[in-house]
Amino acid sequence: MTATLTPDELQRYARHLILPDVGVEGQRRLKAARVLVVGAGGLGSPVALYLAAAGVGTLGIVDFDVVDMSNLQRQILHGTGDVGRSKLDSARARLLDVNPFVRVETHEARLTSANALEIIGRYDIVVDGTDNFATRYLTNDACVLLGKPNVYGSIFRFEGQASVFGLPDGPCYRCLFPEPPPAGSVPSCAEGGVFGVLPGIVGTIQATEAIKLILGIGETLAGRLLLIDALSMQFRAMTLRKDPSCPACGTRTIKALIDYDEFCGVPNADEVHDIDHVAEITPTELAARIARADASFDLIDVREPYEWAIAHIDGARLIPLGQIPASLPSLDKTREIVVMCRSGVRSADAARFMQSNGFTRVKNLAGGILRWSTDVDPRVRRY
Ligand SMILES: [Zn+2]
Repeated sequence: MTATLTPDELQRYARHLILPDVGVEGQRRLKAARVLVVGAGGLGSPVALYLAAAGVGTLGIVDFDVVDMSNLQRQILHGTGDVGRSKLDSARARLLDVNPFVRVETHEARLTSANALEIIGRYDIVVDGTDNFATRYLTNDACVLLGKPNVYGSIFRFEGQASVFGLPDGPCYRCLFPEPPPAGSVPSCAEGGVFGVLPGIVGTIQATEAIKLILGIGETLAGRLLLIDALSMQFRAMTLRKDPSCPACGTRTIKALIDYDEFCGVPNADEVHDIDHVAEITPTELAARIARADASFDLIDVREPYEWAIAHIDGARLIPLGQIPASLPSLDKTREIVVMCRSGVRSADAARFMQSNGFTRVKNLAGGILRWSTDVDPRVRRY
């Protein structure tokens, strides 16, 4: 399917039109193409910007988040003036400024088993810019079921990966990773950090692959996993084979989407109390105790000093997680101790460690300072 180009478009895309492998015919294909970008974050930013600039006619974007100050270190779709605005509104404005000839279709939702087939079904190609395993498996399975190419990218700290999944004779994400890692074993970018320019590298590679797929030129990353190390600046390509026993693309035993949170072991928000035998206290409960000047417990913050400098709860004592073992002698085992961190993951580790060292009255602050900010004091900065 092709589309006709107006004189304004011919002028705009002049550098493509003189490229032998693109030309007017290729540019018409780009205009007729429909690409879905899952996530308007670190990867989705360069992907959407370059696809829009290149003249991909219809860009769908799925996201449900709001622009946060801590996004701007890498999510170049959004600017300082967009903080607090929905990422989709911010993305649409920026993309239409880059190229008003592009149609931006926004899907303000979390991609779920209930909506993925319907949303992905409207597009020719999917670019996966998600930051979690559950959505990545969901995107993969939906693309395989629908027969859509899935341009994969992922980033962690200084390392990235990219590939193209879901082509008829190529492997899929499950061929590479049949099982998700144990829940909590791989920190998220929020917990582990990410080098700000890295999603720029990986996302630009994803945009390149999507454009090649539309044009039908070159050799895509299907059947190869590109591994990128930004610190050594080494790029390696591993050969990936389609696994005949893959339940998605091999045996095709997966005939419908499943519960991906359950598959990936993501705890249900209603079941956060007493995870792994660590008692919890909610921010609201803690705030009530502080408000009545209850001095029967110690509040220990296990985050790093730079996080403490962004925001902390008055009366807490800072002991970064790595210093907890050495600090145990300074803590009173007989008193109740509440541990806290950003989201409750690191402090649960600290609580388990303390319990195994004879502390019997440890409680974890559920949801950490992020939930404190939401439930108790919105003036506390989120990051
Ligand atoms: Zn597969």
